[in-house]
Amino acid sequence: MPFAQLGLVPELLRAVKHAGYETPTPIQVQAIPAVFAGKDLFGCAQTGTGKTAAFALPILQRLKPGKGRRLRALILTPTRELAVQVAESFGAYGRFLSLRIGLVYGGVSLSPQENDLRRGVDVLVATPGRLMDHMSRGNVDFQHLEFLVLDEADRMLDMGFIDDVKDIIRTLPKKRQTLLFSATMPYAIQRLADEILRDPVGIEVTRRATPVETVRQTVHCVAGWDKAKLLNHLLENQVMSQVLVFTRTRRGAETLTRFLNEHGKTAASLHGDKTQNERTKALEAFRSGRYSVLVATDVAARGLDIDGISHVVNYNVPETPENYVHRIGRTARAGEAGDAITFMAPEETSSLRAIEQLIGQSIPEEAVEGYSLPPPVARPVKRVGTRVFRPRRLLVSSGGRRR
Ligand code: AMP
Repeated sequence: MPFAQLGLVPELLRAVKHAGYETPTPIQVQAIPAVFAGKDLFGCAQTGTGKTAAFALPILQRLKPGKGRRLRALILTPTRELAVQVAESFGAYGRFLSLRIGLVYGGVSLSPQENDLRRGVDVLVATPGRLMDHMSRGNVDFQHLEFLVLDEADRMLDMGFIDDVKDIIRTLPKKRQTLLFSATMPYAIQRLADEILRDPVGIEVTRRATPVETVRQTVHCVAGWDKAKLLNHLLENQVMSQVLVFTRTRRGAETLTRFLNEHGKTAASLHGDKTQNERTKALEAFRSGRYSVLVATDVAARGLDIDGISHVVNYNVPETPENYVHRIGRTARAGEAGDAITFMAPEETSSLRAIEQLIGQSIPEEAVEGYSLPPPVARPVKRVGTRVFRPRRLLVSSGGRRR
């Protein structure tokens, strides 16, 4: 189905073409008409499904008959990075409309944001904490608000923002259209949806291809103290062009980044102790390819949309199995090839088993001479449906590359 059939105005069709999109994604096909029809929306969708355009395009179209710089749409996001990306998307899709997009997030000075808000914006993209600051200073006026979007609501819950979000919502006009997006549907999110959505249209989509199917996954059994050396070895002996490494802690991210840089790699780190300026610089360096490794914590990497990641390395096995799926979904975007490599110390075996349960398959083991530990005994053979997944063990000699 072409975009034109969705009833978008010519300015938006031009913008979509400019962005290089040919056909709408499934979530766009479902969400755009629903928003045009004035319905509330409950969308179960991850990043990578095209959800931003699914809400930004119809909102922009509904805001098009301008009423002179009044705040009419509020988008709440859990992280600054996602806020920046969403605001950039509104800017790109709205490039042929004269609407002003505001962006407020914490960690930077208040006053430029304050000036923007005073001058007036039509759409405001915000993280909850900083928006509350502006509200307490009387910088925002929600009187004319027509649209509220909660993006990645489950992340807001994880990060402890949900009470702030509820406080913000209490100050908004009751008569408005509300769109709630969440990758997972924990009970607290369903309750929130019950409270704030009126007779919503429910939309559920998965990524165009689930990463679990398209990403080549492997696990290395390795002692905790050998993990840095193994990563360094892989970087030197395999073709790994753009590598996103996840560590469990901020300190772990810093120590590993330092180790890699001392061994001649170009690595940057991204975690909660970094200033906004440092995060922006690290991301730019990685995106542009000047740095080939980005070491991040889960929270810092949430919502990041970086194309061309060749490898995701789980330096620690994620403790929450769903996080594994989120992490490996950063590679193999848009049908490209991608690898997910997990380093498992013996004490992390049970976390890996939980992941294998969730994804319904065993992750093949790969061994590198001089680094790998023998695999844990008695790896279970998992039966999923009628298929039996038998763990495989692939031996790669030093310097070799499987495939
Ligand atoms: P999102 O799920 O909003 O984070 O979008 C994921 C990626 O898909 C972004 O890089 C978008 O630019 C891209 N995208 C969104 N809609 C389309 C479309 N209809 N065709 C191709 N790419 C798209």
